Amino acid sequence: MKLKQLELCGFKSFPDKTTIPFPGGVSAVVGPNGCGKSNIVDAIQWVTGEQRARQLRGKSMEDVIFSGSKSRPPVNMAEVSITFANDNGSCPEEYRDFSEIMVTRRLFRSGERGYFINKQPCRLKDIQNLLMGSGIGAGTYAVIQQGNLGAITEAGPDERRIFIEEAAGITRYKARKKEAQSKIKSTRTNLLRVMDIITEVE
Ligand code: ATP
Repeated sequence: MKLKQLELCGFKSFPDKTTIPFPGGVSAVVGPNGCGKSNIVDAIQWVTGEQRARQLRGKSMEDVIFSGSKSRPPVNMAEVSITFANDNGSCPEEYRDFSEIMVTRRLFRSGERGYFINKQPCRLKDIQNLLMGSGIGAGTYAVIQQGNLGAITEAGPDERRIFIEEAAGITRYKARKKEAQSKIKSTRTNLLRVMDIITEVE
């Protein structure tokens, strides 16, 4: 999957709907200090499921909503959509027929929130599952924040292995294996309980 476009509305320093295309190859975001370059990176992290406000340079998640400026009142909702070109079939099976996949995250000051894939409401887990193995998403390597390059180059073998597994696209299968193992465990417990009941009845 390739990053194709980012749309921000009410997110941090972007009160109006702003569309940022990524036409392929290398894209660079340039501008004077404080113009909002890092906020674009924050938007990518937020829409792909980041749950830690500090990772987005805020104190609480509400800090991602435009809080007003000298000339503009605050807004009540932040919404970010990220569009991927689905060109290499690396996404889960249920999305293989889509040429583009759009992930949207919305947050209101009231606390109401929502996640969407191709405009259909979904769970955070569905987004995490979609992005697993793409390198994008909380704790992955595609977005390296200012000053954090050292954390990658100096990572220990265990951390480095996580990055390599994500790049190799096996994270999704490891997560599924973990889920299956936990289901097997609870099924075994249920089976034991059933055996106990059968013994009691007999
Ligand atoms: P630098 O080049 O110095 O790293 P930058 O271009 O990366 O700067 P950002 O850190 O992305 O700049 O943007 C900082 C600006 O975003 C500040 O002016 C700050 O007031 C504004 N900002 C951040 N959060 C909000 C918010 N919730 N509402 C309004 N403005 C915000």
